[in-house]
Amino acid sequence: MGKGNFDFLAKKWNLLAEIGQMAEKHVVNDPNTTLVKLRMFGETVTAILNDLEKIPRMDIHPQYKRIKRLLSKDIISYEIYDKLQFLRIRGNRAVHNAKYGTSEEAEDALNQAFQLGVWLMRVYGQWDFKEPKYIEPQGEVSPIKTLSPPPSKTREQKLIKVQKDKIKERPTIQVKIHKYSKDEQGYETWLEENYTGYVFNYFGGTNSSKGMNKIHRADCRFLMRKQDKGKRTTIPKVCSKNKDELIEYVTHERGNSWEFCKSCF
Ligand SMILES: [Zn+2]
Repeated sequence: MGKGNFDFLAKKWNLLAEIGQMAEKHVVNDPNTTLVKLRMFGETVTAILNDLEKIPRMDIHPQYKRIKRLLSKDIISYEIYDKLQFLRIRGNRAVHNAKYGTSEEAEDALNQAFQLGVWLMRVYGQWDFKEPKYIEPQGEVSPIKTLSPPPSKTREQKLIKVQKDKIKERPTIQVKIHKYSKDEQGYETWLEENYTGYVFNYFGGTNSSKGMNKIHRADCRFLMRKQDKGKRTTIPKVCSKNKDELIEYVTHERGNSWEFCKSCF
């Protein structure tokens, strides 16, 4: 081993360095494996933080809850929270679908993991730590690499179109959605039980309020801002475990005047 982007972690956390190296090795030719390894990287980071901060082990708890707890204890910032969530969500998709993941996405995740490692080293490693320069991984030359995916804006529009087409095809759907208006407890309980679900921030307004009416993933950080605590359902939240069902509801209510959150989608 050597000359990898994660070597700097070996002095303090050898396991983390090894996982990073494995992830890096596959980034171009097997992005799915990279995303799976990086999910492990994120889980290892939260385990290290739990140990360092003497938080009782929560082995039975999912990574989502560990990340959320680190945030609520102010051990990690929103910036670090985002990186951990990114690795968790992309890694989950990769685990459940062997074909999931492009090399661009894997490179992005690798860079996020690198920054996480730098942060960990700076805060918990050595006080005089100097950040190494991130080297773009080369991998083996692959023809797939030259086919760049469409920009994310277009991808988002396509996603909306695909979802709408799907809805047209289906005759009837039993919509199981929950609305929480001025019901903090109900909403919090739903979130706890459905952290892989979806939440529509029902701001309302005219068509021009499109940008205020967003569908989020239930674990989006914009749904967890501290300043909204105790008044999260002042603007009603419409929740569903199923994305298609929620999109159908939202489209019925607002036509095209809504968006996916750009942070969590
Ligand atoms: Zn969001």
